[in-house]
Amino acid sequence: MTLYGKRYARLNKRLALVVDDEAVNREMLGFILQDDYDILPAGDGREAMRLLRERGADISVLLLDLLMPVMSGFDVLHEMRTLEAARDIPVIVLTSEARAEVECLKLGAVDFIKKPYNAPEAVLARVNRVVELFEDRQLIEAAENDPLTGLYNRAFFYEYAGQRDRQLSDCEMDAVALDIDRFRLLNEMNGRAYGDRVLRAIGGVLAGFAGEHDGLAARCGSDLFYLYCRHQESYEPLRRRLGQVLDELSDAVRIRVRFGVYPAADKEMEMEHRFDRAKAACDAIRDDYKQCVNVYSDELHAREVYAERLMNDMGEAIASGQFCVYYQPKFNIRGEEPVLCSAEALVRWRHPELGFISPGVFIPLFEQNGLISQLERHIWERAAAQMREWKDRFGVSIPVSVNVSRIDLYDPNLGQWFAGLMEKYALSPGEYWLEITESAYTEDTAQLLAMVSALREAGFKVEMDDFGSGYSSLNMLFMMPVDALKLDMKFVQNIEKSGKNREIIRVLMNLAGCLGVPTIVEGVEEQEQVDMLKSAGCDIIQGYYFSRPLPPEEFERFIKGGKEEC
Ligand code: C2E
Ligand code: CA
Ligand code: CA
Repeated sequence: MTLYGKRYARLNKRLALVVDDEAVNREMLGFILQDDYDILPAGDGREAMRLLRERGADISVLLLDLLMPVMSGFDVLHEMRTLEAARDIPVIVLTSEARAEVECLKLGAVDFIKKPYNAPEAVLARVNRVVELFEDRQLIEAAENDPLTGLYNRAFFYEYAGQRDRQLSDCEMDAVALDIDRFRLLNEMNGRAYGDRVLRAIGGVLAGFAGEHDGLAARCGSDLFYLYCRHQESYEPLRRRLGQVLDELSDAVRIRVRFGVYPAADKEMEMEHRFDRAKAACDAIRDDYKQCVNVYSDELHAREVYAERLMNDMGEAIASGQFCVYYQPKFNIRGEEPVLCSAEALVRWRHPELGFISPGVFIPLFEQNGLISQLERHIWERAAAQMREWKDRFGVSIPVSVNVSRIDLYDPNLGQWFAGLMEKYALSPGEYWLEITESAYTEDTAQLLAMVSALREAGFKVEMDDFGSGYSSLNMLFMMPVDALKLDMKFVQNIEKSGKNREIIRVLMNLAGCLGVPTIVEGVEEQEQVDMLKSAGCDIIQGYYFSRPLPPEEFERFIKGGKEEC
Protein backbone atom coordinates (compact mmCIF):
# COMPACT_ATOMS: atom_id res chain seq x y z
CA MET A 1 0.00 0.00 0.00
CA THR A 2 1.33 3.45 -0.80
CA LEU A 3 1.39 6.47 1.41
CA TYR A 4 -1.90 7.55 -0.09
CA GLY A 5 -3.15 4.05 0.61
CA LYS A 6 -2.36 4.51 4.26
CA ARG A 7 -4.18 7.83 4.27
CA TYR A 8 -7.13 6.30 2.59
CA ALA A 9 -6.99 3.54 5.17
CA ARG A 10 -8.06 6.10 7.74
CA LEU A 11 -11.59 5.78 6.41
CA ASN A 12 -11.38 2.03 7.11
CA LYS A 13 -9.12 2.53 10.14
CA ARG A 14 -5.36 2.42 10.06
CA LEU A 15 -3.39 -0.63 11.04
CA ALA A 16 -1.35 -0.73 14.31
CA LEU A 17 1.12 -3.48 15.12
CA VAL A 18 1.07 -4.05 18.89
CA VAL A 19 3.97 -6.10 20.17
CA ASP A 20 3.97 -7.21 23.80
CA ASP A 21 4.59 -10.60 25.38
CA GLU A 22 1.84 -10.06 27.94
CA ALA A 23 -1.56 -10.74 26.44
CA VAL A 24 -3.30 -8.49 28.90
CA ASN A 25 -1.23 -5.51 27.77
CA ARG A 26 -1.96 -6.27 24.11
CA GLU A 27 -5.65 -6.46 24.81
CA MET A 28 -5.67 -3.30 26.83
CA LEU A 29 -3.94 -1.34 24.06
CA GLY A 30 -6.23 -2.91 21.46
CA PHE A 31 -9.19 -1.72 23.46
CA ILE A 32 -7.84 1.83 23.76
CA LEU A 33 -7.04 2.11 20.07
CA GLN A 34 -9.93 0.15 18.59
CA ASP A 35 -12.02 3.11 17.41
CA ASP A 36 -9.24 4.42 15.18
CA TYR A 37 -7.10 1.35 14.47
CA ASP A 38 -7.27 -2.24 13.40
CA ILE A 39 -4.85 -4.18 15.57
CA LEU A 40 -2.20 -6.68 14.50
CA PRO A 41 -1.01 -8.36 17.72
CA ALA A 42 2.39 -10.04 18.19
CA GLY A 43 3.75 -11.80 21.27
CA ASP A 44 7.50 -11.40 20.66
CA GLY A 45 10.06 -9.72 18.44
CA ARG A 46 10.38 -12.54 15.96
CA GLU A 47 6.67 -12.60 15.26
CA ALA A 48 6.75 -8.82 14.97
CA MET A 49 9.51 -9.04 12.34
CA ARG A 50 7.51 -11.58 10.38
CA LEU A 51 4.47 -9.27 10.34
CA LEU A 52 6.63 -6.31 9.39
CA ARG A 53 8.03 -8.25 6.47
CA GLU A 54 4.61 -9.39 5.30
CA ARG A 55 2.51 -6.33 5.97
CA GLY A 56 5.01 -3.53 6.54
CA ALA A 57 3.61 -1.42 3.74
CA ASP A 58 0.15 -1.40 5.38
CA ILE A 59 1.20 -0.66 8.94
CA SER A 60 0.80 2.92 10.18
CA VAL A 61 2.41 2.57 13.60
CA LEU A 62 4.32 0.06 15.68
CA LEU A 63 3.81 -0.07 19.46
CA LEU A 64 6.71 -2.02 20.86
CA ASP A 65 7.45 -3.56 24.22
CA LEU A 66 11.14 -3.77 25.07
CA LEU A 67 11.57 -6.79 27.25
CA MET A 68 10.23 -9.89 25.56
CA PRO A 69 11.34 -13.49 25.23
CA VAL A 70 12.79 -14.84 21.92
CA MET A 71 13.62 -11.43 20.46
CA SER A 72 13.64 -8.14 22.38
CA GLY A 73 12.21 -4.78 21.33
CA PHE A 74 15.78 -3.43 21.01
CA ASP A 75 16.56 -6.09 18.43
CA VAL A 76 13.37 -5.30 16.53
CA LEU A 77 14.34 -1.62 16.40
CA HIS A 78 17.71 -2.65 15.04
CA GLU A 79 16.53 -5.11 12.48
CA MET A 80 13.54 -3.26 11.09
CA ARG A 81 15.80 -0.43 9.87
CA THR A 82 17.28 -2.82 7.34
CA LEU A 83 13.86 -3.80 6.06
CA GLU A 84 12.71 -1.60 3.18
CA ALA A 85 8.99 -1.99 3.89
CA ALA A 86 9.35 -1.27 7.62
CA ARG A 87 12.07 1.35 7.71
CA ASP A 88 9.72 4.31 7.76
CA ILE A 89 7.11 3.06 10.21
CA PRO A 90 7.03 5.21 13.37
CA VAL A 91 7.75 3.26 16.55
CA ILE A 92 6.34 4.04 19.96
CA VAL A 93 8.06 2.18 22.76
CA LEU A 94 5.98 0.75 25.59
CA THR A 95 8.03 0.93 28.74
CA SER A 96 8.04 1.26 32.44
CA GLU A 97 11.75 1.93 32.53
CA ALA A 98 12.86 5.50 32.00
CA ARG A 99 16.49 4.35 31.63
CA ALA A 100 15.86 2.68 28.28
CA GLU A 101 14.55 5.82 26.63
CA VAL A 102 17.85 7.26 25.37
CA GLU A 103 18.90 4.03 23.77
CA CYS A 104 15.53 3.64 22.07
CA LEU A 105 15.68 7.16 20.73
CA LYS A 106 19.09 6.42 19.29
CA LEU A 107 17.65 3.39 17.59
CA GLY A 108 14.93 5.47 16.00
CA ALA A 109 11.88 5.26 18.30
CA VAL A 110 9.87 8.46 18.16
CA ASP A 111 7.88 8.40 21.39
CA PHE A 112 7.14 6.49 24.62
CA ILE A 113 4.05 5.34 26.40
CA LYS A 114 4.39 4.49 30.03
CA LYS A 115 2.94 1.30 31.43
CA PRO A 116 0.50 0.77 33.01
CA TYR A 117 -1.98 2.60 30.79
CA ASN A 118 -3.72 4.77 33.36
CA ALA A 119 -5.02 7.46 30.99
CA PRO A 120 -6.48 5.73 27.89
CA GLU A 121 -7.43 9.00 26.15
CA ALA A 122 -3.92 10.37 26.50
CA VAL A 123 -2.53 7.12 25.01
CA LEU A 124 -4.83 7.34 21.99
CA ALA A 125 -4.08 11.03 21.50
CA ARG A 126 -0.36 10.33 21.66
CA VAL A 127 -0.50 7.54 19.10
CA ASN A 128 -2.64 9.62 16.76
CA ARG A 129 -0.30 12.58 17.00
CA VAL A 130 2.72 10.46 16.07
CA VAL A 131 0.91 8.85 13.14
CA GLU A 132 -0.32 12.15 11.75
CA LEU A 133 3.07 13.78 12.09
CA PHE A 134 4.59 10.91 10.14
CA GLU A 135 1.99 10.96 7.45
CA ASP A 136 2.38 14.70 7.00
CA ARG A 137 6.11 14.33 6.77
CA GLN A 138 5.76 11.66 4.13
CA LEU A 139 3.41 13.86 2.14
CA ILE A 140 5.91 16.69 2.27
CA GLU A 141 8.69 14.33 1.22
CA ALA A 142 6.61 13.15 -1.71
CA ALA A 143 6.29 16.76 -2.87
CA GLU A 144 9.98 17.49 -2.30
CA ASN A 145 11.39 14.42 -3.93
CA ASP A 146 11.73 13.05 -7.39
CA PRO A 147 9.74 9.81 -7.21
CA LEU A 148 12.18 7.84 -9.36
CA THR A 149 15.44 8.56 -7.55
CA GLY A 150 14.21 9.87 -4.21
CA LEU A 151 16.48 12.90 -4.62
CA TYR A 152 15.18 16.43 -4.10
CA ASN A 153 13.52 18.23 -6.94
CA ARG A 154 14.96 21.53 -8.07
CA ALA A 155 12.88 23.97 -6.01
CA PHE A 156 13.37 22.19 -2.69
CA PHE A 157 17.00 21.53 -3.49
CA TYR A 158 17.73 25.25 -3.78
CA GLU A 159 15.83 25.87 -0.57
CA TYR A 160 17.73 23.23 1.43
CA ALA A 161 21.06 24.14 -0.16
CA GLY A 162 20.47 27.67 1.18
CA GLN A 163 19.83 26.21 4.63
CA ARG A 164 23.04 24.19 4.34
CA ASP A 165 24.92 27.45 3.71
CA ARG A 166 23.56 28.88 6.91
CA GLN A 167 24.50 25.75 8.87
CA LEU A 168 28.00 25.52 7.37
CA SER A 169 28.77 29.19 7.04
CA ASP A 170 32.56 28.73 7.30
CA CYS A 171 32.75 25.90 4.87
CA GLU A 172 33.56 26.12 1.16
CA MET A 173 30.93 24.38 -0.93
CA ASP A 174 30.96 23.16 -4.54
CA ALA A 175 28.07 23.31 -6.99
CA VAL A 176 28.23 20.32 -9.32
CA ALA A 177 26.05 19.48 -12.32
CA LEU A 178 26.03 15.99 -13.83
CA ASP A 179 24.56 15.06 -17.16
CA ILE A 180 24.31 11.73 -18.95
CA ASP A 181 25.56 11.76 -22.51
CA ARG A 182 22.89 11.17 -25.11
CA PHE A 183 20.43 9.88 -22.56
CA ARG A 184 17.56 10.10 -25.02
CA LEU A 185 19.34 7.71 -27.35
CA LEU A 186 20.23 5.40 -24.48
CA ASN A 187 16.57 5.30 -23.49
CA GLU A 188 15.46 4.62 -27.03
CA MET A 189 17.96 1.87 -27.68
CA ASN A 190 17.74 0.03 -24.36
CA GLY A 191 14.21 0.79 -23.25
CA ARG A 192 12.74 3.08 -20.64
CA ALA A 193 13.06 0.57 -17.84
CA TYR A 194 16.81 0.43 -18.41
CA GLY A 195 16.95 4.24 -18.52
CA ASP A 196 15.14 4.33 -15.17
CA ARG A 197 17.63 1.89 -13.69
CA VAL A 198 20.49 4.10 -14.82
CA LEU A 199 18.87 7.17 -13.25
CA ARG A 200 18.18 5.34 -10.00
CA ALA A 201 21.74 4.02 -9.85
CA ILE A 202 23.16 7.51 -10.33
CA GLY A 203 20.70 8.87 -7.76
CA GLY A 204 21.85 6.23 -5.27
CA VAL A 205 25.54 7.05 -5.71
CA LEU A 206 24.92 10.78 -5.45
CA ALA A 207 22.78 10.42 -2.33
CA GLY A 208 25.55 8.34 -0.72
CA PHE A 209 28.26 10.81 -1.72
CA ALA A 210 26.18 13.78 -0.55
CA GLY A 211 25.64 12.08 2.81
CA GLU A 212 29.39 11.69 3.28
CA HIS A 213 30.23 15.30 2.42
CA ASP A 214 27.55 17.35 4.16
CA GLY A 215 25.82 17.63 0.83
CA LEU A 216 22.51 17.41 -0.94
CA ALA A 217 21.61 15.98 -4.31
CA ALA A 218 18.78 16.66 -6.70
CA ARG A 219 17.43 15.48 -10.03
CA CYS A 220 16.65 18.60 -11.99
CA GLY A 221 15.65 17.35 -15.39
CA SER A 222 15.30 14.06 -17.14
CA ASP A 223 19.02 13.30 -16.96
CA LEU A 224 20.43 16.30 -15.13
CA PHE A 225 21.58 15.98 -11.53
CA TYR A 226 22.80 18.64 -9.12
CA LEU A 227 25.04 18.10 -6.13
CA TYR A 228 25.89 20.64 -3.46
CA CYS A 229 28.62 19.47 -1.09
CA ARG A 230 31.78 20.37 0.77
CA HIS A 231 34.60 21.46 -1.51
CA GLN A 232 36.48 18.53 -3.08
CA GLU A 233 39.99 18.68 -4.48
CA SER A 234 38.96 16.18 -7.13
CA TYR A 235 35.78 14.54 -8.35
CA GLU A 236 37.69 11.60 -9.74
CA PRO A 237 36.67 9.31 -6.83
CA LEU A 238 33.00 10.11 -7.40
CA ARG A 239 33.39 9.63 -11.13
CA ARG A 240 35.00 6.22 -10.55
CA ARG A 241 32.31 5.16 -8.14
CA LEU A 242 29.62 6.13 -10.64
CA GLY A 243 31.50 4.28 -13.36
CA GLN A 244 31.60 1.09 -11.29
CA VAL A 245 27.90 1.18 -10.48
CA LEU A 246 26.96 1.88 -14.10
CA ASP A 247 29.27 -0.86 -15.38
CA GLU A 248 27.48 -3.29 -13.10
CA LEU A 249 24.19 -2.44 -14.79
CA SER A 250 25.36 -3.61 -18.16
CA ASP A 251 28.52 -4.91 -19.82
CA ALA A 252 27.35 -3.87 -23.23
CA VAL A 253 26.28 -0.26 -22.77
CA ARG A 254 28.89 2.36 -22.02
CA ILE A 255 27.48 5.36 -20.26
CA ARG A 256 29.34 8.61 -20.00
CA VAL A 257 28.41 11.02 -17.24
CA ARG A 258 29.74 14.55 -17.62
CA PHE A 259 30.58 16.69 -14.58
CA GLY A 260 30.55 20.47 -14.44
CA VAL A 261 32.00 21.88 -11.23
CA TYR A 262 31.74 25.41 -9.89
CA PRO A 263 34.19 25.01 -7.00
CA ALA A 264 34.07 26.97 -3.74
CA ALA A 265 30.97 28.71 -5.00
CA ASP A 266 30.44 32.39 -4.22
CA LYS A 267 27.89 32.33 -1.43
CA GLU A 268 26.71 35.82 -2.22
CA MET A 269 25.49 34.56 -5.55
CA GLU A 270 21.98 33.17 -5.86
CA MET A 271 21.92 29.39 -5.61
CA GLU A 272 20.33 29.08 -9.04
CA HIS A 273 23.12 31.09 -10.65
CA ARG A 274 25.79 28.99 -8.97
CA PHE A 275 24.27 25.94 -10.60
CA ASP A 276 23.94 27.77 -13.91
CA ARG A 277 27.73 28.01 -13.79
CA ALA A 278 28.15 24.34 -12.95
CA LYS A 279 25.82 23.47 -15.80
CA ALA A 280 27.65 25.77 -18.21
CA ALA A 281 30.90 23.93 -17.35
CA CYS A 282 29.12 20.64 -17.91
CA ASP A 283 27.66 21.71 -21.27
CA ALA A 284 31.01 23.02 -22.47
CA ILE A 285 32.43 19.47 -22.70
CA ARG A 286 29.40 17.99 -24.40
CA ASP A 287 31.36 17.16 -27.54
CA ASP A 288 34.72 16.51 -25.94
CA TYR A 289 34.82 12.79 -25.35
CA LYS A 290 38.23 12.86 -23.72
CA GLN A 291 37.10 15.01 -20.82
CA CYS A 292 34.48 14.04 -18.25
CA VAL A 293 34.99 16.66 -15.57
CA ASN A 294 35.11 20.37 -16.34
CA VAL A 295 35.69 23.15 -13.85
CA TYR A 296 34.08 26.54 -14.32
CA SER A 297 36.83 29.00 -15.27
CA ASP A 298 37.39 32.67 -15.98
CA GLU A 299 37.52 31.83 -19.65
CA LEU A 300 34.15 30.14 -19.51
CA HIS A 301 32.83 33.10 -17.59
CA ALA A 302 34.10 35.48 -20.25
CA ARG A 303 32.43 33.33 -22.90
CA GLU A 304 29.16 33.43 -21.01
CA VAL A 305 29.31 37.21 -20.66
CA TYR A 306 30.00 37.46 -24.39
CA ALA A 307 27.07 35.17 -25.19
CA GLU A 308 24.81 37.20 -22.93
CA ARG A 309 25.87 40.34 -24.75
CA LEU A 310 25.09 38.83 -28.15
CA MET A 311 21.65 37.73 -26.97
CA ASN A 312 20.89 41.17 -25.60
CA ASP A 313 22.08 42.90 -28.75
CA MET A 314 20.28 40.76 -31.30
CA GLY A 315 16.98 42.64 -31.50
CA GLU A 316 18.65 46.00 -31.99
CA ALA A 317 21.05 44.47 -34.51
CA ILE A 318 18.15 43.28 -36.66
CA ALA A 319 16.44 46.66 -36.46
CA SER A 320 19.58 48.60 -37.40
CA GLY A 321 20.63 46.28 -40.21
CA GLN A 322 23.79 44.86 -38.63
CA PHE A 323 23.05 41.41 -40.04
CA CYS A 324 23.93 40.99 -43.66
CA VAL A 325 23.53 38.05 -45.94
CA TYR A 326 26.43 36.65 -47.95
CA TYR A 327 25.98 34.30 -50.86
CA GLN A 328 28.15 31.37 -51.74
CA PRO A 329 27.76 29.97 -55.25
CA LYS A 330 27.02 26.33 -55.97
CA PHE A 331 28.25 24.96 -59.26
CA ASN A 332 26.89 22.11 -61.25
CA ILE A 333 29.87 19.97 -62.36
CA ARG A 334 28.08 17.34 -64.41
CA GLY A 335 29.01 18.89 -67.76
CA GLU A 336 32.37 19.86 -69.27
CA GLU A 337 32.41 23.26 -67.61
CA PRO A 338 31.06 24.05 -64.16
CA VAL A 339 27.84 26.03 -64.28
CA LEU A 340 26.50 28.33 -61.59
CA CYS A 341 23.24 26.82 -60.44
CA SER A 342 22.33 28.35 -57.12
CA ALA A 343 23.63 30.01 -53.98
CA GLU A 344 23.49 29.49 -50.26
CA ALA A 345 22.49 32.45 -48.12
CA LEU A 346 24.79 32.72 -45.08
CA VAL A 347 24.31 35.31 -42.41
CA ARG A 348 27.07 37.61 -41.07
CA TRP A 349 26.95 40.02 -38.17
CA ARG A 350 28.78 43.33 -38.34
CA HIS A 351 28.63 44.39 -34.72
CA PRO A 352 29.48 48.08 -34.17
CA GLU A 353 31.65 47.31 -31.14
CA LEU A 354 32.52 43.62 -31.31
CA GLY A 355 33.34 43.65 -35.03
CA PHE A 356 32.63 40.90 -37.52
CA ILE A 357 31.02 37.86 -35.90
CA SER A 358 30.79 34.49 -37.60
CA PRO A 359 27.47 32.61 -37.61
CA GLY A 360 29.31 29.63 -36.14
CA VAL A 361 29.43 31.72 -32.94
CA PHE A 362 25.96 33.17 -32.68
CA ILE A 363 23.72 30.70 -34.51
CA PRO A 364 24.18 27.82 -32.03
CA LEU A 365 23.64 30.29 -29.21
CA PHE A 366 20.40 31.63 -30.66
CA GLU A 367 19.28 28.09 -31.39
CA GLN A 368 19.61 27.23 -27.74
CA ASN A 369 17.33 29.97 -26.54
CA GLY A 370 14.87 30.19 -29.39
CA LEU A 371 15.95 33.67 -30.54
CA ILE A 372 16.90 32.07 -33.85
CA SER A 373 13.35 32.17 -35.22
CA GLN A 374 13.26 35.94 -35.22
CA LEU A 375 16.66 36.23 -36.88
CA GLU A 376 15.88 33.57 -39.46
CA ARG A 377 12.73 35.27 -40.62
CA HIS A 378 14.77 38.39 -41.15
CA ILE A 379 17.41 36.48 -43.15
CA TRP A 380 14.84 34.58 -45.18
CA GLU A 381 13.18 37.82 -46.14
CA ARG A 382 16.47 39.49 -47.06
CA ALA A 383 17.29 36.53 -49.29
CA ALA A 384 13.89 36.68 -51.00
CA ALA A 385 14.25 40.41 -51.58
CA GLN A 386 17.71 39.80 -53.07
CA MET A 387 16.39 37.14 -55.43
CA ARG A 388 13.69 39.51 -56.60
CA GLU A 389 16.24 42.21 -57.23
CA TRP A 390 18.52 39.90 -59.24
CA LYS A 391 15.60 38.65 -61.25
CA ASP A 392 14.56 42.19 -62.11
CA ARG A 393 18.06 43.41 -62.89
CA PHE A 394 19.55 40.41 -64.67
CA GLY A 395 16.48 38.62 -65.92
CA VAL A 396 17.62 35.27 -64.48
CA SER A 397 16.47 33.17 -61.62
CA ILE A 398 19.23 32.23 -59.23
CA PRO A 399 17.73 29.76 -56.80
CA VAL A 400 18.85 30.52 -53.28
CA SER A 401 18.92 28.12 -50.36
CA VAL A 402 18.39 29.34 -46.83
CA ASN A 403 19.21 27.51 -43.63
CA VAL A 404 16.26 26.44 -41.50
CA SER A 405 16.88 25.55 -37.87
CA ARG A 406 15.09 22.59 -36.46
CA ILE A 407 13.33 24.74 -33.90
CA ASP A 408 11.49 26.47 -36.75
CA LEU A 409 10.14 23.17 -37.93
CA TYR A 410 8.00 22.96 -34.82
CA ASP A 411 6.22 26.20 -35.76
CA PRO A 412 2.94 25.13 -37.35
CA ASN A 413 2.71 28.46 -39.23
CA LEU A 414 6.02 28.01 -41.00
CA GLY A 415 4.54 26.88 -44.32
CA GLN A 416 2.14 29.76 -44.37
CA TRP A 417 4.90 32.19 -43.56
CA PHE A 418 7.03 31.00 -46.48
CA ALA A 419 4.03 31.07 -48.79
CA GLY A 420 3.39 34.70 -47.79
CA LEU A 421 7.02 35.51 -48.50
CA MET A 422 6.84 34.02 -51.99
CA GLU A 423 3.75 36.03 -52.68
CA LYS A 424 5.24 39.27 -51.40
CA TYR A 425 8.29 38.99 -53.66
CA ALA A 426 6.52 37.24 -56.53
CA LEU A 427 8.82 34.21 -56.37
CA SER A 428 7.97 30.61 -56.92
CA PRO A 429 8.71 28.09 -54.17
CA GLY A 430 10.64 25.96 -56.68
CA GLU A 431 13.47 28.50 -56.69
CA TYR A 432 13.61 28.85 -52.93
CA TRP A 433 15.46 25.98 -51.29
CA LEU A 434 15.46 25.09 -47.63
CA GLU A 435 18.53 23.55 -46.00
CA ILE A 436 17.60 21.41 -43.04
CA THR A 437 20.35 19.78 -41.07
CA GLU A 438 20.35 16.01 -40.91
CA SER A 439 20.29 15.95 -37.11
CA ALA A 440 16.88 17.61 -37.24
CA TYR A 441 15.51 14.60 -39.05
CA THR A 442 16.84 12.15 -36.52
CA GLU A 443 15.78 14.20 -33.52
CA ASP A 444 12.12 13.60 -33.84
CA THR A 445 9.40 12.44 -35.00
CA ALA A 446 6.30 12.37 -36.94
CA GLN A 447 5.57 16.05 -36.42
CA LEU A 448 8.84 17.11 -37.96
CA LEU A 449 8.60 14.84 -40.94
CA ALA A 450 5.03 16.02 -41.50
CA MET A 451 6.22 19.63 -41.57
CA VAL A 452 8.95 18.89 -44.11
CA SER A 453 6.50 16.95 -46.26
CA ALA A 454 4.02 19.82 -46.14
CA LEU A 455 6.71 22.29 -47.23
CA ARG A 456 7.60 20.06 -50.15
CA GLU A 457 3.98 19.67 -51.12
CA ALA A 458 3.76 23.47 -51.19
CA GLY A 459 6.55 23.33 -53.80
CA PHE A 460 9.63 24.18 -51.74
CA LYS A 461 12.79 22.16 -52.32
CA VAL A 462 14.46 20.65 -49.31
CA GLU A 463 18.17 19.88 -48.99
CA MET A 464 19.36 17.66 -46.20
CA ASP A 465 22.34 19.63 -44.89
CA ASP A 466 25.42 18.17 -43.18
CA PHE A 467 24.43 14.72 -44.40
CA GLY A 468 26.59 12.02 -42.80
CA SER A 469 27.10 13.89 -39.54
CA GLY A 470 23.93 12.60 -37.91
CA TYR A 471 22.68 9.15 -37.19
CA SER A 472 20.14 8.43 -39.91
CA SER A 473 19.51 4.78 -40.35
CA LEU A 474 19.24 3.48 -43.89
CA ASN A 475 15.66 2.68 -43.24
CA MET A 476 14.92 6.24 -42.20
CA LEU A 477 16.71 7.61 -45.22
CA PHE A 478 14.33 5.90 -47.57
CA MET A 479 11.37 7.43 -45.78
CA MET A 480 12.77 10.93 -45.66
CA PRO A 481 11.26 13.67 -47.70
CA VAL A 482 14.24 15.37 -49.39
CA ASP A 483 15.14 16.80 -52.79
CA ALA A 484 18.93 16.77 -52.40
CA LEU A 485 21.61 15.47 -50.08
CA LYS A 486 24.35 17.86 -49.03
CA LEU A 487 27.33 15.99 -47.74
CA ASP A 488 28.92 17.03 -44.50
CA MET A 489 32.11 18.97 -45.07
CA LYS A 490 34.28 16.55 -43.15
CA PHE A 491 34.07 13.90 -45.88
CA VAL A 492 35.68 16.00 -48.54
CA GLN A 493 38.17 17.55 -46.16
CA ASN A 494 39.40 14.10 -45.19
CA ILE A 495 39.71 12.76 -48.72
CA GLU A 496 43.48 13.06 -48.74
CA LYS A 497 43.84 11.49 -45.35
CA SER A 498 42.59 8.08 -46.32
CA GLY A 499 41.39 6.04 -49.23
CA LYS A 500 38.53 4.97 -47.02
CA ASN A 501 36.94 8.40 -47.25
CA ARG A 502 36.93 8.18 -51.03
CA GLU A 503 35.07 4.94 -50.72
CA ILE A 504 32.58 6.45 -48.31
CA ILE A 505 31.95 9.31 -50.71
CA ARG A 506 31.32 6.85 -53.53
CA VAL A 507 28.91 4.90 -51.35
CA LEU A 508 27.04 8.06 -50.40
CA MET A 509 26.79 9.10 -54.05
CA ASN A 510 25.35 5.69 -54.88
CA LEU A 511 22.93 6.00 -52.04
CA ALA A 512 21.71 9.35 -53.34
CA GLY A 513 21.37 7.69 -56.75
CA CYS A 514 19.11 5.03 -55.22
CA LEU A 515 17.02 7.75 -53.60
CA GLY A 516 16.88 9.54 -56.93
CA VAL A 517 18.19 12.85 -55.58
CA PRO A 518 21.24 14.91 -56.57
CA THR A 519 24.23 15.34 -54.26
CA ILE A 520 25.85 18.57 -53.23
CA VAL A 521 29.30 18.56 -51.68
CA GLU A 522 30.37 21.60 -49.70
CA GLY A 523 33.75 22.65 -48.36
CA VAL A 524 35.55 21.86 -51.62
CA GLU A 525 38.82 23.72 -51.77
CA GLU A 526 41.20 21.85 -54.09
CA GLN A 527 41.29 20.84 -57.75
CA GLU A 528 42.04 17.28 -56.68
CA GLN A 529 38.88 17.16 -54.65
CA VAL A 530 36.85 18.42 -57.60
CA ASP A 531 38.29 15.73 -59.85
CA MET A 532 37.66 13.00 -57.36
CA LEU A 533 34.09 14.15 -56.69
CA LYS A 534 33.36 14.42 -60.37
CA SER A 535 34.52 10.89 -60.98
CA ALA A 536 32.49 9.67 -58.02
CA GLY A 537 29.33 11.06 -59.62
CA CYS A 538 28.78 14.21 -57.53
CA ASP A 539 26.38 16.73 -59.09
CA ILE A 540 26.97 20.04 -57.38
CA ILE A 541 29.93 21.60 -55.60
CA GLN A 542 30.15 24.49 -53.18
CA GLY A 543 33.36 25.71 -51.62
CA TYR A 544 36.34 28.01 -51.58
CA TYR A 545 37.54 26.31 -54.75
CA PHE A 546 34.95 28.41 -56.58
CA SER A 547 34.38 31.15 -54.09
CA ARG A 548 34.00 32.10 -50.47
CA PRO A 549 30.60 33.42 -49.42
CA LEU A 550 30.36 36.95 -50.85
CA PRO A 551 28.34 40.08 -50.24
CA PRO A 552 25.60 40.41 -52.90
CA GLU A 553 27.42 43.04 -54.98
CA GLU A 554 30.45 40.77 -55.33
CA PHE A 555 28.34 37.70 -55.97
CA GLU A 556 26.86 39.44 -59.00
CA ARG A 557 30.01 38.76 -60.98
CA PHE A 558 28.97 35.11 -61.11
CA ILE A 559 25.56 36.04 -62.42
CA LYS A 560 27.03 38.31 -65.04
CA GLY A 561 29.72 35.74 -65.92
CA GLY A 562 27.42 32.85 -66.70
CA LYS A 563 23.75 33.40 -67.04
CA GLU A 564 23.03 29.79 -67.79
CA GLU A 565 21.09 27.78 -65.28
CA CYS A 566 21.19 24.13 -64.50
P1 C2E B 1 26.60 25.34 -43.11
O1 C2E B 1 25.16 25.53 -43.43
O2 C2E B 1 27.10 23.93 -43.15
O3 C2E B 1 27.36 26.31 -44.06
C1 C2E B 1 28.55 26.05 -44.65
C2 C2E B 1 29.69 26.71 -43.96
O4 C2E B 1 30.89 26.29 -44.57
C3 C2E B 1 29.69 28.23 -44.08
O5 C2E B 1 30.25 28.74 -42.90
C4 C2E B 1 30.65 28.47 -45.22
O6 C2E B 1 31.24 29.74 -45.17
C5 C2E B 1 31.66 27.39 -44.96
N1 C2E B 1 32.40 27.03 -46.15
C6 C2E B 1 31.98 27.10 -47.42
N2 C2E B 1 32.91 26.65 -48.26
C7 C2E B 1 33.97 26.27 -47.52
C8 C2E B 1 35.25 25.71 -47.81
O7 C2E B 1 35.63 25.46 -48.96
N3 C2E B 1 36.07 25.43 -46.77
C9 C2E B 1 35.71 25.70 -45.50
N4 C2E B 1 36.56 25.41 -44.52
N5 C2E B 1 34.50 26.23 -45.18
C10 C2E B 1 33.63 26.51 -46.18
P2 C2E B 1 29.57 29.93 -42.17
O8 C2E B 1 29.03 30.91 -43.16
O9 C2E B 1 30.56 30.39 -41.15
O10 C2E B 1 28.35 29.25 -41.48
C11 C2E B 1 28.53 28.35 -40.46
C12 C2E B 1 27.23 27.71 -40.12
O11 C2E B 1 26.34 28.67 -39.56
C13 C2E B 1 26.48 27.16 -41.31
O12 C2E B 1 26.95 25.91 -41.66
C14 C2E B 1 25.08 27.14 -40.81
O13 C2E B 1 24.85 25.97 -40.05
C15 C2E B 1 25.03 28.32 -39.91
N6 C2E B 1 24.38 29.43 -40.62
C16 C2E B 1 24.89 30.37 -41.42
N7 C2E B 1 23.92 31.22 -41.84
C17 C2E B 1 22.78 30.78 -41.29
C18 C2E B 1 21.40 31.21 -41.32
O14 C2E B 1 21.02 32.18 -41.97
N8 C2E B 1 20.49 30.49 -40.59
C19 C2E B 1 20.88 29.40 -39.86
N9 C2E B 1 19.98 28.73 -39.18
N10 C2E B 1 22.13 28.97 -39.83
C20 C2E B 1 23.06 29.64 -40.53
CA1 CA C 1 23.74 25.06 -44.88
CA1 CA D 1 26.45 22.16 -44.11
